[in-house]
Amino acid sequence: MRKHHLFTPGPTMVPADVALAGARDMIHHRTDEFRSLYEKCHSQLQELLGTKQPVLTLLGSGTAAMEAAIGGILSPGERMIAFNGGKFGERWAKIGRTLGCEVHEVIYEWSDYTSVDKLEQALEECPDAVAVFVQLSETSSGIANPVKELAEICREHDKLIVVDGISGFPAMPCPMDEWGLDVMVTASQKGMMMPPGLGIIALSKRAQARVEQTPARIFYNDLKAQLKAHAKSNHAWTSGVSLHQQLSVALDELLREGLDAVHRRSHIQGEAVRGAARALGFKLLNEKRPGDVLTPVLMPEGVRGSEVAKYCRANWGIYFAAGQGDYTDKIVRIGHLGYQDHFETIMAVAAFEMAMKHFGADIELGKGVKVAQEILMADLEAQAKRTAASS
Ligand SMILES: *Cc1c(COP(=O)(O)O)cnc(C)c1O
Repeated sequence: MRKHHLFTPGPTMVPADVALAGARDMIHHRTDEFRSLYEKCHSQLQELLGTKQPVLTLLGSGTAAMEAAIGGILSPGERMIAFNGGKFGERWAKIGRTLGCEVHEVIYEWSDYTSVDKLEQALEECPDAVAVFVQLSETSSGIANPVKELAEICREHDKLIVVDGISGFPAMPCPMDEWGLDVMVTASQKGMMMPPGLGIIALSKRAQARVEQTPARIFYNDLKAQLKAHAKSNHAWTSGVSLHQQLSVALDELLREGLDAVHRRSHIQGEAVRGAARALGFKLLNEKRPGDVLTPVLMPEGVRGSEVAKYCRANWGIYFAAGQGDYTDKIVRIGHLGYQDHFETIMAVAAFEMAMKHFGADIELGKGVKVAQEILMADLEAQAKRTAASS
């Protein structure tokens, strides 16, 4: 018997009813039936993202939405500030250069984060930047950036702020209108409990105005065309019909659980995994600002992260992600986002312990599991109390 337990920071596990919704009868996308599905999903996305502005769904993974963002608001030769403290920050810079922007790239150590100081310095060095590009959760390092504070500085300097919340949403809070974000990008396959295939992008009024005045230079995910179609509750080209049928079910489930509960779930699971790793004697890459999406555990001397991930996957069907770039073998990343309950988190910790033991790490089996159990049990008991009190 072989199950697949995905503790990777995307793709993640998909609930059966979301998966099955993709098998419903195909409907045509230029119909009232599809338009009402679109409108339902759209208003739910607005609620979850905390915005009254348009939220576009694009066919493609998260990177397609990142590219659409840059192509939509910047013209060739215009300046952008990109913070590169990991693979995905680097991606903002790479896309920007590919699309001919002048990129002021701020590169820093992966154990560090995009601080207000770094932003203020970048704005001094690059005062004519149009937009600032950051990650809510930098998935290669697990770090959470102080997006709210960064957005305040951007507003003071009259810069657009573009946030990659591809792994961060909806695991971590990021209310778009309240925090004054201009562009928020996410994707279906991480915290949203869906298969890969949809990029999602929300635009503030300021960002929409930029899109209107910026000549199109990418065609497929041209935001001007997509905004125009959006006004008619539709897409510019053929819609991802089945993906929207799945999105509808996934959004119902997220809203039924409640955004606060989703945040709390990832946070407590993060506490459990962090607590377990430390109890076992491991260090974390992101001690400065650990995010709640995933935990990057530093490997001891002589143990290669990619080997650990491969061993768990090949032998047990347990999926962890090794590191990326220079960190390929230096860390193992344990996810706690999406369709993952507390008991699956205990499973992840147990498997991680067993794998580290297999690779000769000097650890005591059960030591991390115990800490995870204590943290998660306290939360389960608190939940049970709340349920009893409300019934
Ligand atoms: C996964 C991820 C991306 C890339 O998304 P794809 O869906 O693989 O294109 C970008 N940014 C962050 C923070 C991510 O976690």
